Amino acid sequence: ADAPAATDLTWQVTRNLAGKSPQDRAKILADPGFGTFFTDHMVDICWSGKGGWHRPRVQPYGPISLDPAAAVLHYGQEIFEGLKAYRHADGSIWSFRPDANARRMQRSAHRLALPELPVEYFIDSLRQLIAVDGDWVPSAPETSLYLRPYMFAKEAFLGVRPADKVAFYVIASPAGAYFHGGVAPVSIWLSTDYARAGRGGTGAAKTGGNYASSLIAQAEASAQGCAQVMFLDSAEGTYLEELGGMNIVLVYRDGSLVTPKSDSILEGITRDSILQLARDRGHTVEERPVTIDEWREGAESGDIVEVFACGTAAVVTPIAQLKAANFTIGSADAAAGEITMSLRKELTDIQYGREEDRHGWLTRL
Ligand code: PMP
Repeated sequence: ADAPAATDLTWQVTRNLAGKSPQDRAKILADPGFGTFFTDHMVDICWSGKGGWHRPRVQPYGPISLDPAAAVLHYGQEIFEGLKAYRHADGSIWSFRPDANARRMQRSAHRLALPELPVEYFIDSLRQLIAVDGDWVPSAPETSLYLRPYMFAKEAFLGVRPADKVAFYVIASPAGAYFHGGVAPVSIWLSTDYARAGRGGTGAAKTGGNYASSLIAQAEASAQGCAQVMFLDSAEGTYLEELGGMNIVLVYRDGSLVTPKSDSILEGITRDSILQLARDRGHTVEERPVTIDEWREGAESGDIVEVFACGTAAVVTPIAQLKAANFTIGSADAAAGEITMSLRKELTDIQYGREEDRHGWLTRL
């Protein structure tokens, strides 16, 4: 809040003359996968303790030059965000609740002792990138342009303290339909050897270190044939937290939806939106501590009828089963739940402009 005023916020745009040809771009957009191809440009804004936010640029996508002593490479002072740009039937390009991502990035920044980028600069940076890379937003059903804003400490020094020089970037990557041939329920692996976050730690922040610490457990999940890893609380190992990159929601027989309450999980924007849509339909929604035993017993008794994961990348993913070292909940061939799929459809219909945006969640880019 007491950061110095920005000095120069005039955008400097340098076109990428060596960017992809329309033919090459079309080839990529026909089958983009996820996170493999990047657009022709990137956004870069500087911050320093003295100068505040300054020198906003759109420049050709390419390698970043960093001092080998840059603090991020040693102490991991970094945060990021993830959101999508959607093309509507009339060709216009929209993002979904970018203000919520901007505010979450401010909370992450606070926790990682990084400067808070004002919400309007965050949204402006997306618009600047779309202004030059708009042709990279695909139009096939369920496709989008994934936007990745991130911020890191670039000051060169060894010693543990918040850096005085920081960079904010935005890159973008076209994303294909996450599930080919219909949404497939997944199996997830319960990690009991590893925790993702602890009390007072960085679990609620979107910072690289959380993902670095999840990799070994995610690898274990893959080895078990599971799509994602489920983490429990680090103190007692009894409460559900979240998956490596998604939040979790349980659906009860009486129509109520329950999602774990914890200070050490990421507050998902997809989860918040899905729960709002459920409330609109009259479902009871609860955010409260949930134990792994509650899930196990509820699934056995039939009290818990559906479980799903949610996050920006895959939107809503039905969970068929949870595998643990010594027990299993559900079965690998379980069908996608009705409530899960219908909430998924309503959310994507809003995002793609097929249904009225009654909550004012869309922002034109
Ligand atoms: N938890 C974690 C650990 C995540 O990485 C993500 C993806 N950002 C989420 C939850 C879901 O958040 P969102 O719905 O905002 O994408």
